[in-house]
Amino acid sequence: MNITNLNPDSDIGSSAWMVELDEHRILLDAGMHPKREGLDAVPRYGKSGTHDVDAIAISHCHHDHVGSLPLACRQFPKAHVLMTELSYLLIERVLHNSVNVMTRQRDELGIREYPLYTHDELDDIAAHFQGFKYNREVEWSAYHKARAGMPSPTLEFFDAGHTLGSAGILLRGKKETLFYTGDVCFHDQTILKSARFEDVKADVLIMETTRGNREVPKEFTREKEIERLVAAIHAAEKKKGAIMIPSFALGRTQEMLALLALLMREGKLKKQPIYIGGLGRVFTEIYDIEAARTHRQHTNLHLNDALQLIVLEKGQADSMKLSGGKIFVITAGMMSENTAAHTLATRMVGDEKQSIFFVGYADPDSPAGHLKAAKLGETFVFSPSAGQLTKRCDVQDFDLTAHANRGDLLEFVGQVSPRAILLGHGDDAARKWFEEQINLRWPKIKVYQPQPAKMVSV
Ligand SMILES: [Zn+2]
Ligand SMILES: [Zn+2]
Repeated sequence: MNITNLNPDSDIGSSAWMVELDEHRILLDAGMHPKREGLDAVPRYGKSGTHDVDAIAISHCHHDHVGSLPLACRQFPKAHVLMTELSYLLIERVLHNSVNVMTRQRDELGIREYPLYTHDELDDIAAHFQGFKYNREVEWSAYHKARAGMPSPTLEFFDAGHTLGSAGILLRGKKETLFYTGDVCFHDQTILKSARFEDVKADVLIMETTRGNREVPKEFTREKEIERLVAAIHAAEKKKGAIMIPSFALGRTQEMLALLALLMREGKLKKQPIYIGGLGRVFTEIYDIEAARTHRQHTNLHLNDALQLIVLEKGQADSMKLSGGKIFVITAGMMSENTAAHTLATRMVGDEKQSIFFVGYADPDSPAGHLKAAKLGETFVFSPSAGQLTKRCDVQDFDLTAHANRGDLLEFVGQVSPRAILLGHGDDAARKWFEEQINLRWPKIKVYQPQPAKMVSV
């Protein structure tokens, strides 16, 4: 089996793994790097050789896993694009939004090569998309059987519990198997239940390592973290400022909305409207519509009915009053430029009445990362367009992650019991921790930290 990590960087970056199994080739994920710009953000598809690729399989619809799919389709025009049924409902929305974001960035930041693909191109490739149920075995190379003269390997999606439609992907060849975790969550969130990976065994494992650099404190529970969030919201209301919870539009937004809805229902928070973004609203509706088909909790909790959701209009974030304990659950999670969260932050950071509560991952090099790292009263560079800000508002971090804790991932390694592991989707410290732990507990497992565009034969 040959595996090439096409992520242009050695951090979380953009996920894209080329796998060659029984002379058939499949690309696992086609992400876009959130911190890089233009073509630098794209996986190194050109470095994956000249052979035909039979299929592209998508683990879930976050931008770092799917954002460069049209470019992958351009590079591998014969490939069918396979995903879960739920991802099939989301993927075009995510990619069309990405065209809009890139077009804005071309105009406002002067990145000439943007957009890297167009709405028309998306409509053309959408004909190659196919959605499958979890736990169905699919011959991913059946269409190209004649060319290769070999029976097709198969693929199976396993529910990863990370976001709607998320999946780990099991590839089965003639003799060997490979499992790719994608992004995975081994604990229940407010909506989604934990991953269903119990039956997974494989010879080779490609594993995410996002939280390898983070130890969970012994006394930590999600319930206590939620109590802490409630107390922080009450304190913010007393100050009569506003509250912003920066969140990715897909997954994080709906988890936060569900949590707020339940807390309001229990009387722990006062009932009030919640401000969200346009894309957040679209995904919230899809979460509601698919509630009965999703492996989740609170199947009867429909967010649109339970909450009074107000969609921020264009330009509103620049001018609306930030008072009265207004709550914003708004993109982007890392407060990247040209987003409502970035605009609101530039107005809130210097005002001690305001509160910003983080509930997910923020890269240290993103505006959110800069804000988190600054001390109270310190003047720091927030972003190139906003320049310097002085941190006076209340900034807090709540651990309500949608990624597996490192201890749970390590247990999963024991369950899968592979002969080789490739570590990805994490920073250097995170991958190092896993490599050390795996070497310690299972010295026979060969551990790789594959560098960009270097093929590993396992
Ligand atoms: Zn993700
Ligand atoms: Zn990811």
